[in-house]
Amino acid sequence: MPEGPSIVILKEAVHMFKGKKLLTATGNAKLDYDVFRHKNIRDFKSWGKHFLICFRGCFLRIHLLLFGTYRINEKKEAPPRLSLRFRNGELNFYTCSVQLIEQDPDEVYDWSGDVMNKAWDPRKAMVKLKARPQLMVCDALLDQDIFAGVGNIIKNEVLFRLRLHPESELGKIPPAKKRALVKEVVIYSFEFLAWKKAFELKKHWLAHNKKICPRCHIPFEKAWLGKTNRRSFFCNNCQVLYK
Ligand SMILES: [Zn+2]
Repeated sequence: MPEGPSIVILKEAVHMFKGKKLLTATGNAKLDYDVFRHKNIRDFKSWGKHFLICFRGCFLRIHLLLFGTYRINEKKEAPPRLSLRFRNGELNFYTCSVQLIEQDPDEVYDWSGDVMNKAWDPRKAMVKLKARPQLMVCDALLDQDIFAGVGNIIKNEVLFRLRLHPESELGKIPPAKKRALVKEVVIYSFEFLAWKKAFELKKHWLAHNKKICPRCHIPFEKAWLGKTNRRSFFCNNCQVLYK
């Protein structure tokens, strides 16, 4: 599933369509196409894993889910869920979720919850973490209401960097460690973005999909943890369990 940085890359890749008028809008997504068919693109935005195509008075929310893809000025064999054509090119989305929302994105989204947004507010994240002392840190990191944009890769890598066991409970983690966690999520997300752009993201993984802990040289544990039940890679020796 694409994480926040990959959606930022998508947003940057389609900048040439900003301000352009839609010539046609088609696809097998069940939408009221008449609402936006001939409108101008006002902006492209992202909020966590959501990609937003903004028009005056409405926007399209695209979530690539597990297997969603897109093509710019190209087509795939498969029927597009959404196909947008402009005078200067086309943008196609496949096997994703598309919703039309007849509101302004500012009314719908709290930008301060998106770890890659300029408005990201670490203090608000700390307040949200404090409010749920029993939550496991592996679930907290994947909670889009706390860390919009964080996915499983960011979760595994950040926990490893901080020597924090994924099953640690928020209420038992020292406050300084929690502040470091909030900080590191943003640092790692922007490193993820730079590495992904350079096609070298996987090369930098230290824990995600790895078999041996590079600090202790012993096998990593691999388990589906927390309420989110997502794959975790962690070292029982150097990642501290606060419980
Ligand atoms: Zn280790």
